[in-house]
Amino acid sequence: MTKIILDEKFQKIFHYKDYPMKDFAYLRIGGKADYLFFPKDYDEVITIYNFSKENNIPFTIVGNCSNLIIRDGGIRGFVVSLKKLNKINVNDNELTTQAGAQLIWASFIALKHSLSGLEFACGIPGTIGGAVAMNAGAYDSEIKDVLKSCEVLTNEGKIVTKTKEELDYSYRSSSILKNKEIVLSATFSLQKGNYQEIKDKMLELTKKRLEKQPLEYPSCGSVFKRPKGYYVGKLIQDAKLQGLRIGDAMVSTKHAGFIINTNKATAKDYISLINLIRKKIYDEFNILLEQEVLIIGEE
Ligand SMILES: Cc1cc2nc3c(=O)[nH]c(=O)nc-3n(C[C@H](O)[C@H](O)[C@H](O)COP(=O)(O)OP(=O)(O)OC[C@H]3O[C@@H](n4cnc5c(N)ncnc54)[C@H](O)[C@@H]3O)c2cc1C
Repeated sequence: MTKIILDEKFQKIFHYKDYPMKDFAYLRIGGKADYLFFPKDYDEVITIYNFSKENNIPFTIVGNCSNLIIRDGGIRGFVVSLKKLNKINVNDNELTTQAGAQLIWASFIALKHSLSGLEFACGIPGTIGGAVAMNAGAYDSEIKDVLKSCEVLTNEGKIVTKTKEELDYSYRSSSILKNKEIVLSATFSLQKGNYQEIKDKMLELTKKRLEKQPLEYPSCGSVFKRPKGYYVGKLIQDAKLQGLRIGDAMVSTKHAGFIINTNKATAKDYISLINLIRKKIYDEFNILLEQEVLIIGEE
C-alpha cells in the first residue's frame, strides 16, 4: 500500500496513528492499526469513508472490538470506531440510538422508560452498530426481534434507512456484515412494561453471567456458534479441553465456550487454540464448530 497522506480536513477528526489495537480490543490482543479514527458526526464518517475509497485505503469499521480477534500484524489503512456517536432518544415505545452507543447502556435507558424488549442485551458488551451488524443475542432473544430499522451508509456512500426485513438476518449475521455497510443509527420497537419486572429480569440475567462467565479475564465472549442440537460448552467440557492452553490463551475452566487471555496471549496463540479445539471436537464427535468471533488484520 502506498504511504497515506491525510489532507487538512482530517486535523479536526479525532484519531491516532499506529495505534496498538490490543489497548482497545476487549481481548487485549492485536497489532497496530495504521490509523484509528473516532468521528463525532456523520460528516466526519463520510469524509473518512470517501477519502478511503478515493485513495484505495482499506477501511475497517469496528465498535468496541468485543467480538474480534485482531491479528498480531495489525490492521492496514483506516480503522473507524463510532463510539463518539452515542446519543440515545426515546419516543413513546421506540428507542433510537446512534451506532456508537453501548448496547448495555441502551438496555438501561429502556429500563428507565419502563420499556421491555432489551433485557436480554443488558450484559452484551458491544456497541449498537456491532450488535445490529452481528445480530447479537442471548437467552433466546436477538437484536432482530426488537429492531425496527436502521440507518446505514451504503457502499456507494449514501445514507439510507433499511427496515429489519431488508437486512437478511440469521444467527449472528446480517446483510450489513456481508456487504460491509456501516450502521449509523438504529430504532428499536419496544413494549411498555413494568419497571420492577424489567429490572428483576435484567438482574437475573446479570447474575447468571457473573456466575457462569469468566468476566475477570479478557475474552471475546462465546468463540463458537451453537451447533444445532448441541451446546458448545458441553462438547468442549465432555472432550476434557477445559484448561487447555497455547501460550497465554486458555480454554476457560469456568465456561468452556470461552477462551481467555490469561496474560499476554498473542492472536497466533488464540487462533491456534481455536483450531486445536475444532480439530479435537471434530475427531471426537464428528461436529465441525463454526466461529462466532471474527478474525481481522494481518499475520
Ligand atoms: C464477555 C463477553 C460477553 C459477550 N456476550 C455476548 C452475548 O451474550 N451475545 C452476543 O451476541 N455476543 C456477545 N459477545 C460478543 C460481542 O459483544 C457482540 O458480538 C457485540 O455485538 C459486538 O459489538 P462490538 O461493537 O464490539 O463490535 P466489534 O466486535 O467491534 O465488531 C463486530 C463486527 O461488527 C462490525 N461492526 C461494528 N460496528 C459496526 C457498525 N457501526 N456498522 C457496521 N458494522 C459494524 C465489525 O465490522 C465486525 O464485523 C460477548 C463478548 C464478550 C467479551
